Amino acid sequence: MPAPTLLVPADPKAGYLAHKDEIDGAIHRVLDSGWYILGQEVAGFEKEFAAYIGVGNAIGVASGTDALEIALRSCGIGPGDGVITVSHTAVATVAAIELAGAIPILVDIDPCTYTMDPNRLEDTIKQQGAGRLKAIIPVHLYGHPADMAAIMDIAGRHGLSVIEDCAQSHGAAIGDRKTGTWGHLSAFSFYPTKNLGALGDGGAVVTNDPALAERLRQLREYGFRERYVSHLSGMNTRLDELQAAILRVKLQYLRTENARRRQIARIYGASLSGTTLVLPQLHSKVDHVFHLYVVRSAHRDGLKAFLKENSVGTSIHYPVPVHLQPAYRSRAVIGRGGLEHTEQVCREILSLPMYPQMTDEQVQRIGHLIARWDSQKGEAS
Ligand SMILES: *Cc1c(COP(=O)(O)O)cnc(C)c1O
Repeated sequence: MPAPTLLVPADPKAGYLAHKDEIDGAIHRVLDSGWYILGQEVAGFEKEFAAYIGVGNAIGVASGTDALEIALRSCGIGPGDGVITVSHTAVATVAAIELAGAIPILVDIDPCTYTMDPNRLEDTIKQQGAGRLKAIIPVHLYGHPADMAAIMDIAGRHGLSVIEDCAQSHGAAIGDRKTGTWGHLSAFSFYPTKNLGALGDGGAVVTNDPALAERLRQLREYGFRERYVSHLSGMNTRLDELQAAILRVKLQYLRTENARRRQIARIYGASLSGTTLVLPQLHSKVDHVFHLYVVRSAHRDGLKAFLKENSVGTSIHYPVPVHLQPAYRSRAVIGRGGLEHTEQVCREILSLPMYPQMTDEQVQRIGHLIARWDSQKGEAS
């Protein structure tokens, strides 16, 4: 029997093939229009995405990293200002703070939700003093919302802006409010593997504040208010018409595809609940969108190797916390209490394959493989 083909952790091509005819049609519509930058497709997508999230304004930009940078700049945050975020995140979150000229201050996570621990946040604000601190960037990592009620309460008491990093949480919600509606502004990425993914780079900032929206529109194109006249020193970060047209197709399926991700998570949960693995936590008030399905094991590296031998590809999000990475470790500013949970979790996490086009059989096969490994590993070691 031939070896089963390798199951990949994420499959953006499957996301394209699932809607190929509609996407091809959208691409040709743009090619034939003769208008490729900031036209009807971007305007249409911005309107539809804002309506989906439940906010007043969406501004399309070139990537999620740019979305974070421009969001910071629109709040007037720049050199010397402090911005608090987590170290257990994509390096992009921290890179964007430095791109805006500001100083990242990193706090620990809650090891159950893998998101910013509000107690650490409060301690760190007290320790730093109000003066140089300007903003907080909570990250809804893996598709699980951060504790926004607590974070907004702390931010309000200390006069800080909140920018949500929603790069992994398109459609996730707390109660009936989606992520992206809690902070003053929120940044999304449409990198191909995200829950809402383009076929190239893309991003957006959303906000209910019309004045901020106006600044963002100017900042994304050289600070233009009218053409060729800069009123702010801006940047060039535009979502292009092709990606916007593709995103308009995929946005129509986001709700169904997020539901499918939750179904896959339930199948994993059913096969893995009796094992020694730590599974993703589900809280009743939270709508998790499972950008990633992340388990924890003290024998993570052994499990990863075992799955690879059995044609199941996995990844680690993320293997090295930002404050320990070569580019950042010499100047990382660590919040009070250190980053104990962050460092512990990085040694144990493993992202199993997760994308809407997986079949039930594929998910069950992986679940059973892991359960078998788990029951035998005591004898092997
Ligand atoms: C993907 C990602 C980003 C960056 O998005 P790009 O579009 O790749 O620039 C930022 N933050 C988080 C948490 C991400 O997962």
